[in-house]
Amino acid sequence: MPFTANRAFKKAPVLFASAEGMHYKTPEGRSVLDGTSGLWCVNAGHARQPILAAVRQQLAELDYAPGFQTGHPQAFAAARAVAARMPAGLDRIFFANSGSEAVDSALKIALAYHRADGQAQRTRLIGRERGYHGVGFGGISVGGLGANRQAFSGNLLPSVDHLPHTYDAERQRHSRGQPAWGAHLADELERRIALHGAHTIAAVIVEPVAGSAGVLVPPAGYLARLREITRRHGILLIFDEVITGFGRLGAPTASAYFDVTPDLITLAKGISNAVVPAGAVAVRREIHDTILDAAPDGAIEFAHGYTYSGHPLAAAAIQATLALYDEEELYARAGMLATDFELAVHRLDDAPHVQDVRNLGLMAGIDLAPRDGEPGARGRAVFQGCFERGVLVRYTGDTIALSPPLIAEPGQIEEIVRTLRSVLDGLA
Ligand code: PMP
Repeated sequence: MPFTANRAFKKAPVLFASAEGMHYKTPEGRSVLDGTSGLWCVNAGHARQPILAAVRQQLAELDYAPGFQTGHPQAFAAARAVAARMPAGLDRIFFANSGSEAVDSALKIALAYHRADGQAQRTRLIGRERGYHGVGFGGISVGGLGANRQAFSGNLLPSVDHLPHTYDAERQRHSRGQPAWGAHLADELERRIALHGAHTIAAVIVEPVAGSAGVLVPPAGYLARLREITRRHGILLIFDEVITGFGRLGAPTASAYFDVTPDLITLAKGISNAVVPAGAVAVRREIHDTILDAAPDGAIEFAHGYTYSGHPLAAAAIQATLALYDEEELYARAGMLATDFELAVHRLDDAPHVQDVRNLGLMAGIDLAPRDGEPGARGRAVFQGCFERGVLVRYTGDTIALSPPLIAEPGQIEEIVRTLRSVLDGLA
């Protein structure tokens, strides 16, 4: 199983047999409130009929058509639907099937762009400590989670550097929304540029809000500073919005939320409400045009792609999902709910074992003090305790992450937090 303690799972399997709206059902028929939107992806809740109907209809019409040398109208319609929700100018879309594929595609697009622009020496990629960008070799190379890299350390991409992460427990503990301290950490990029030379650097990739590392919220002003420095040095800025895309912060993108426009945005998860695996890269038009214009007529301009890029079922799911988000005004709803959510999660500030609570939009990270000699044991115990009481939370090590669907009712947010509190109160 992926990212799972397989032997431990066998002893205490957690299984879901069905799902609807805000709830999973176990094979025994027990209802479990989804406090994590699956894996940060089921933004509109489970089994939403308009999406299922669109996928069923697509299945009846066209199961598959190759995206190499042929195409089908739904892929283009899906691309237009995605582009319409991106910041102005990022209106060229490349489809993949996952976040990891979207990330590796974006890194390749960045390299292809500089090559096409006559700057083939710009190959260096800069990620960030504690960043998560999926599990492709590109993604783990720019990623900054040691556990995901070290087993493969002999074969990571060369010419990668990392900025420091932005979390400082002493200065940011129990921040509500963006921490005030830390914007200056973006200036580390200037030091990397001084070291390597801007002419060697292709792109900087960051998650606007680092999700998998435990919801690390960017300090106020940090992302704008990264944008200013990258622009000044001709370095592309990639926002990995696999989690933040499509409503998690109460806006279509984190870029819109923070009012910082990168050159490329990676997307997955909420793009299809997780009904069909899908991922995408949104690219500034000039990048697309430069790559196309550099190739001779009739040549393949970008030698990259997946058998299932723009798959008809994904294309149908994407269109129906994005339409549903608009129809139900789910981004605005998430934005409003975020206020209740912030108040609720910070009621855990003084709960037993809690070291820090952080939040932005409908994302929260709760750090627990590790049990002596047993790192991760408390996180796992809280996960198990919540599951037994009918609430799904996520844990990575001793950090609990919450990311409820955008359709959550305030009472359900309360239920998640109340359950967490009672589990923490009873925990050794
Ligand atoms: N980037 C980010 C920011 C993510 O959060 C994730 C998944 N959690 C990925 C990339 C990888 O996505 P996938 O698991 O679909 O490959």
